[in-house]
Amino acid sequence: MKQIALLGATGSIGIQTLDVIREHRDQFSLYAMAFGKNVEKALPLIQEFKPQLIVVQDFDTKRKIQHGVGDAKVLIGTEGMVEASVQEEVDVVLNAVMGSVGLSATLAAIRAKKQIAIANKETLVTAGHLVMAEAKKYGVDLLPVDSEHSAIFQSLNGERKEDATRLILTASGGSFRDYSRDDLKNVTVEDALNHPNWSMGSKITIDSATMMNKGLEVIEAHWLFDMPYEKIDVIMHKESVIHSLVEYTDKSVIAQLGTPDMKVPIQYALTYPNRLELANTKSLDLVEIGKLHFSEMSFERFPALKMAYEAGRVGGTMTTVLNAANEQAVDLFLHGHIPFLTIEHYIERALEEHTLIETPSLEEIQQIDYETRVRVQQYVK
Ligand code: NDP
Ligand code: MG
Repeated sequence: MKQIALLGATGSIGIQTLDVIREHRDQFSLYAMAFGKNVEKALPLIQEFKPQLIVVQDFDTKRKIQHGVGDAKVLIGTEGMVEASVQEEVDVVLNAVMGSVGLSATLAAIRAKKQIAIANKETLVTAGHLVMAEAKKYGVDLLPVDSEHSAIFQSLNGERKEDATRLILTASGGSFRDYSRDDLKNVTVEDALNHPNWSMGSKITIDSATMMNKGLEVIEAHWLFDMPYEKIDVIMHKESVIHSLVEYTDKSVIAQLGTPDMKVPIQYALTYPNRLELANTKSLDLVEIGKLHFSEMSFERFPALKMAYEAGRVGGTMTTVLNAANEQAVDLFLHGHIPFLTIEHYIERALEEHTLIETPSLEEIQQIDYETRVRVQQYVK
């Protein structure tokens, strides 16, 4: 029986992780769960899964759930997530919180030598060098939950790392795949939240529309698979059937395919190196699909992808700024304070104004993350 600490339990990945646990009660049990403020969603989950430890974002949320948690212990904030991640009883930490707020818990889980299933890509974008150095030091594997990275991870299984010459990430194109730059001027929050292939949290859905999600994933792949940026490509593949590919020295290409369902990579990160049945997931029917499409990714159409490659190549705190500016700008867009295209402008400006620290400490990263958010908020005024 694997005991799981699930961070971000009320989110899109969190709920699908609970679906996986529900389908395999004999294999998994929820020891701890962390969420932000969504009490309405959390209470029935607490009653169903009966975790022994619960972490919430603030005192007010703790007060609101206290009556419905039985004997469970309730902790607060980032420190609470850190404590949940290092509990002796916990075997796997699945980090699915949204944003760089997940960083401390990831680092703590590594130091406690837990198996780590990582959905929280912002952790790797903001501080990849620290996370990977700690993972190496403590001999811990980071098992990707992101579908592209799970596909690459699976395509690398049993191969020698030095034989892999190129990683190819596929991109669905997001909500505005067929729009021109001009068409984007007046799109609404509602339009942007309407993703064609995946149902996800609002922040990552906007990131998919700007293509920043793919940019963050390029940086995530760089760190997870220790691959230089010139060997990481992105191609458009609107069906989201091929989840990503790896090319080898002999030009052989290995890919992982499946219907777009996050439960597959979530479960694989929990069961690796084994697999378990997923009865409610649809089989891939290639005959029914008939055709798959691929096209080149344009940096002119998707400048956020270009910014991510550039920030990644510069490294250091540049990706911290990229991530923090993006998180803040997306939040401003979601709250109706800025138009869609301004997200990119704010990120660009934050990157231009930043003075690089090449090998930042954790404290420097946290400071830059904070300062960048404040700066981007001020752009509005
Ligand atoms: P959601 O917005 O749906 O969920 C985010 C979760 O994090 C919620 O449980 C939320 O709690 C919690 N949370 C947010 N802020 C805090 C905080 N300060 N402290 C504690 N908990 C917090 O996001 P997704 O599930 O879509 O995404 C989660 C992560 O997984 C992201 O890093 C994303 O990039 C990645 N990912 C997601 C995919 C998807 O299909 N959704 C695919 C691949 C990667 P509450 O709502 O209760 O406030
Ligand atoms: Mg992805």
